[in-house]
Amino acid sequence: MDRIPLAVPNIGSREAELLDDAIKSGFVSSVGQYVSEFESRFAAYVGAKHAVACSSGTAALHIAMRLAGIRPGDVVAVSDFTFMASSNAASYQFADLLLVDSDEASWCMDVPLLRAELERRRAAGERLPKAIEIVHILGQPADAHAARELADEFGMVLIEDAAEALGATWTSGPLAGRHVGTVGHFGAYSFNGNKIMTTGGGGMLVTDDEDLARRAKHLSTQARMPDRGYLHDEVGFNYRLTNLAAALGVAQLERLDEFVQTKRRIAHRYSEAFSGTALEVPPDLQETASTYWLYSVKVPGTDGTEARDALQDHLAHAGIESRALWRPLHMQPPLRDEERLGGSVSEELFRRGLSLPCSTDLRDSDQDRVIESVLDWCAKRALSG
Ligand SMILES: *Cc1c(COP(=O)(O)O)cnc(C)c1O
Repeated sequence: MDRIPLAVPNIGSREAELLDDAIKSGFVSSVGQYVSEFESRFAAYVGAKHAVACSSGTAALHIAMRLAGIRPGDVVAVSDFTFMASSNAASYQFADLLLVDSDEASWCMDVPLLRAELERRRAAGERLPKAIEIVHILGQPADAHAARELADEFGMVLIEDAAEALGATWTSGPLAGRHVGTVGHFGAYSFNGNKIMTTGGGGMLVTDDEDLARRAKHLSTQARMPDRGYLHDEVGFNYRLTNLAAALGVAQLERLDEFVQTKRRIAHRYSEAFSGTALEVPPDLQETASTYWLYSVKVPGTDGTEARDALQDHLAHAGIESRALWRPLHMQPPLRDEERLGGSVSEELFRRGLSLPCSTDLRDSDQDRVIESVLDWCAKRALSG
C-alpha cells in the first residue's frame, strides 16, 4: 500500500522547460529576466501595484518590519495562532510582541479583541503597537478590513502574512474581489516547498507604494547604490531570489489557479464526507474564499492532545501522513514573556487540530482511502464512548 504524504510540491514539464531556459541563459543567480518577470506577473495576479521577490517569506516579512520602522522595544501585535516565522520577523527587529488570540469562526486574529485592548490603552495613556501583523491562516482570509480600519485609526502599519493563503480572496463585502495580501501596507507570501506554489524556497513582498517598493528592493540587495565602486547607504540584506528560482515561480504561477481549484475540490470532498461526524471542519465563511492550503479538522475531545494523537496514529498505521496544527506563539519558549490577549482559541486549535493529505496531485482514490480511515476511527471511537 502506497504511503499518502501530507502535501508535496507539484512540479511539471513547464517548470523544467523554464528552468532549463534560465540555465541556458547563463543567468542563474540574482541577475536575469525571470526575477522581474516573476515580480510583474505576481503583482498582476494578486492585484498589487508592486512586488519584490525575496529569498523567503520570512525575509519578505522582515523587510516589511524594517520599512514599517519597527525598532527595538516597539510593540507589534501578531496573531497568536501561526507558524513562528510570523513573529520571528518582528523579533529580528527586537520588537515586543502583543499576541492576539484567534476567533472561533475564522481561526484568524480576533480583531475586535485587539481593538478593545487598544482603546483601553489609549484611554489609559499606555504604549500602543506600531504595527499589526495579521495572518491568513491555512488558506483562510483574516478580517483584513477591520484590521485596516484599526490600523488607520491608530496610525499603525498593517502587514499581512499571506504566506499560507496565496490565491485566497474576498467574495463579498467591502473587500469583494480582492486578494489576501493587498489590503495592508504590505503583504508577504512564501514559496517554500510545502506552500501552494513553490520555487524551492522564496517569497514575495507586495505594496501599492512605489517608494516603499523601491526601498524594499534596495534593502533586499545589500543596500548597494548604483555606483562604480561598492557604495552602500545603509545596512542591507542578501534577501534576493535567484533567477533559477524565479523561473520556477513563473511556471508555477501559470498553474496557480489550477492548484487553488484542486485544493478547494479536495476540501469540499473532505468536508462533505465528515459532515455526519463529530469532527469540526475548517471555516467556510460567507465573505471569503479560502484556498484550504492545508485541510485541517478539529478532533473532538477536550482533554489535551490524546484524541488528535490517536487519530494521527490510526492514520499512520494505514500509511497516511497527517500533522498537528501550529503551537500558539505564547507557548513557544522564546516568547513566553510576551504580552498576550486571550489564547484559549489558539490553544484549542493546537490541541485538537490535525491536517490531512491535500497535495494538488492527490488522487481521488487516495483521498477516499484517507476518508475511509478517518470515518473508521470516528466509528470506533463512538463505540468506545
Ligand atoms: C511558511 C510561512 C512563513 C514563512 O515562509 P518561508 O518562505 O518558509 O520563510 C511565514 N508565515 C507563515 C504563516 C507561514 O506558514
